[in-house]
Amino acid sequence: MKSPQVDVVEEIAEPEAEWYVALIPHMGISSFLHLGILMLLYISGKDFGAVKQTIVEPAVFKPSVPTKPPDVPQPDPPVKLDPNLPTDRDVEDQEKVDLPITGERDPAHEKDMEVSDHYETDDNEDGHGASGDPNQKGEVNTAFQIDSFVKGAGMRAVRGKGEGTGASERFGHRGPGGRKNLTKIGGGGKQTEDAVRKALEWLQKHQSSDGRWDCAAFDGCCKGSTKCTGPGTTDYNVGVSALAMLAYLAHGETSGSGPYADTVRRGLSWLKGQQSSDGCVGPKNIEKHPYNHTIATMALAEAVAMGEYNYKDAAQKAVNYLLACQNTKEKGGGWRYHNYNIPGTASDENGNNDTSVTGWALMALKSARVAELTVPDDAFERASLWLDSIYEAREYKGVFGYLRKANGSLGLVHQSPYTTTSVGVLVRLLMGQNKGVNEGTATLLEKTPDWKNPNLYYWYYATLALFQVGGDSWTQWNKPMKDSLCQNQETKGCQDGSWDPAQDTWGDQGGRVYTTAMGALCLEVYYRYKKGMTVKH
Ligand SMILES: [Zn+2]
Repeated sequence: MKSPQVDVVEEIAEPEAEWYVALIPHMGISSFLHLGILMLLYISGKDFGAVKQTIVEPAVFKPSVPTKPPDVPQPDPPVKLDPNLPTDRDVEDQEKVDLPITGERDPAHEKDMEVSDHYETDDNEDGHGASGDPNQKGEVNTAFQIDSFVKGAGMRAVRGKGEGTGASERFGHRGPGGRKNLTKIGGGGKQTEDAVRKALEWLQKHQSSDGRWDCAAFDGCCKGSTKCTGPGTTDYNVGVSALAMLAYLAHGETSGSGPYADTVRRGLSWLKGQQSSDGCVGPKNIEKHPYNHTIATMALAEAVAMGEYNYKDAAQKAVNYLLACQNTKEKGGGWRYHNYNIPGTASDENGNNDTSVTGWALMALKSARVAELTVPDDAFERASLWLDSIYEAREYKGVFGYLRKANGSLGLVHQSPYTTTSVGVLVRLLMGQNKGVNEGTATLLEKTPDWKNPNLYYWYYATLALFQVGGDSWTQWNKPMKDSLCQNQETKGCQDGSWDPAQDTWGDQGGRVYTTAMGALCLEVYYRYKKGMTVKH
């Protein structure tokens, strides 16, 4: 396990590195080592002050550097960028659908889902009710096809009956029919789906009886003589449990039916049980509690969008808490660790923001929009100000930094631009904006997945982002992503179906539950969100 002290030493050893050094692929190993700090920010509550200082100070983005020193290897040739990316605010109004949200599961929905299971044939082929998106052709989505996202055939249609009319249809394409079609169209296949199924089975076996996934003590669920290795940090049980729930929801699994129904039911129930009266999910005595809360909010919102209406009130309360934690425009517009606008909680005079927490928050709010929870436009407008402030371009590439330093320079995460750039590109696309998308894409393609240096946080965001970008960019990313995961999934003993966290950049913090949920979410990219995922703005 890395310690903050080790990272301090590493950081001091490279205090003068220029910004573009971090963009050079062969420096990846060093960059990955340094990226460990982000996970410390993400998960570890210890020694925060020292870690924060260590991360930010030495990593200076210097856009004014006029030339590259002669001993610095040159980056790869420019990536040919797609000229068809959408323009800012090039988003159609989201069509409103009247939804019979009652706070209870719709019995008709339950029945339809039950019937639907019989639409798969004996050889596991999907029935004719399949409703994949025929418009998904692997091209850059230029039109932000909101219609396909909002009006897509519902879970009922996916399952083989009629047109859906409820919120469940928002993720209707996650059902077995849509899943199969979209997997094929997007560049996945039987190998990726088998890997997802094995991961979901491993997660199911390692869910505690009360519904949680225990970051550190999940091995209490192990069967057989040899227990799974790779514990993480207990403080983040809420976060990893929410990631596990998202992996099931992405696969179209609900509490209504299917082999994971009980797993989903218990997982959602446990998450809701972690919510306090003000809406926060998870303990607030953890400095980086917004990671727990944002991911839990996303899970609750996506559950509602898939028809788990019992969680609508909890999801809205979680959204409200998240909104209350957002910085004002004057203080940057994003999120970080403190609850700036809630009386009696910690505040930060600098209006601190960071791209990592902001990314998770925006993804949660996006899912809340899909679930038709109340999310004001102002939240996205404020967050886009943060993205504007944290983006810097040089030549043909672009970087979304981690935070903005007091002296005005861009703070990276240990001189590595990749993870925060993947977050920036994704949330830009999410908000229907194009600033930095082409240039950020070029940066991400410098560092495609390689199991020699797994970093599932980066892979997760870049996979979602580049899938939305599509075209050659997606082709370049997709193959190493799915090969890295499918070829390195555990195959033996109790660990069968999981991914080893030992080498992952932040695996020692998130543990095996984290790497397995994130691995599944990467391989579910083909159908988790349709192309054109965005928010009404
Ligand atoms: Zn086990």
